[in-house]
Amino acid sequence: MIVAMQEFATEDQIDAVIQEMVEAGVNVHRTTGSSQSILAGVGPTQTLDITVFEQMPGVMYVHRISAPYKLAGRAFRPHGSIIKFDNGVEIGGKEVAIMAGPCSIENEAQIHETARRVRASGGKFLRGGAFKPRSSPYAFQGLGIPGLKLMHEAAQANGLLTVSEVMEISQIEPMLPYTDLFQVGARNMQNFNLLRELGKVRKPILLKRGIAGTIEELLLSSEYILAGGNYDVLLCERGIRTYETATRNTMDISAIPTIHKLSHLPIVADPSHGTGKRDMVIPMALASVAAGADAVIVEVHPHADKAASDAAQTLYLEQFDEMMTKLRAVATAIGRSI
Ligand code: PEP
Ligand code: MN
Repeated sequence: MIVAMQEFATEDQIDAVIQEMVEAGVNVHRTTGSSQSILAGVGPTQTLDITVFEQMPGVMYVHRISAPYKLAGRAFRPHGSIIKFDNGVEIGGKEVAIMAGPCSIENEAQIHETARRVRASGGKFLRGGAFKPRSSPYAFQGLGIPGLKLMHEAAQANGLLTVSEVMEISQIEPMLPYTDLFQVGARNMQNFNLLRELGKVRKPILLKRGIAGTIEELLLSSEYILAGGNYDVLLCERGIRTYETATRNTMDISAIPTIHKLSHLPIVADPSHGTGKRDMVIPMALASVAAGADAVIVEVHPHADKAASDAAQTLYLEQFDEMMTKLRAVATAIGRSI
């Protein structure tokens, strides 16, 4: 259930409502906007008499939530969520954030050169996998924490934030000092134990849509993180598997406005994995921003054709510059900026 308090309801009024909800056996999650608090109640709310809450002082309205996800639904934060990072970068506001870097961190020269160029073109995050979920156990599996350290140094030297994939619970702790945004990969969208653990982390999470995940399943997966008390979740459209074989995945651009309608969580578009083809990354990045994506993540590498993983979809540095110029034009056209 959602209890929306009136604007400028007093703290005493809000506390009284929270207490009444707790006594009814409901878990309360509170979100406070500029002047209004919303209380989401998760638990046995179906049998509750909501008129009790409607009549309490300071309450504006009470709704039952019919969607299976409660905290990820737009009703919890009708104006949308803005995720804030340490250096002042925000995702979910007017500005569209760009994240870029190699699929895998390979060596110092590669990651430093990439970082310089990402920063010079206006990127805000350096991406790079240290733990790689590869289809084949014989393919390059990533450099692990030493690789992540290299990426963190390159990011620090260039004023960038870092985003990297966490594959299992035991990696969270060692990754913490070097990671500003934890990526949960498509293959782990329904690794519920990992998601629950990330609910306890006080750093933002980038949750990718599963290879065959529906939008509802993606939102339910985010609910695991939110229910743990970590509200800083970004959802990511990275293409889904369909019967089409001309591209690696089918980039579901329509997921972007759909998710905006259903949820308050910002959306990141990944046209690299979404298409699997270098020459399709720029057009799909443009389409994603036009459709309302709050951020774009792409793979870029100084020697893209020689990348240790995902070479076919990795942009050359010059293509990244070209993408940024074009993305700025699209962002401006829809009243946003990069
Ligand atoms: C990646 O970002 O390199 C990656 C493996 O992504 P996904 O989980 O979307 O396949
Ligand atoms: Mn990749």
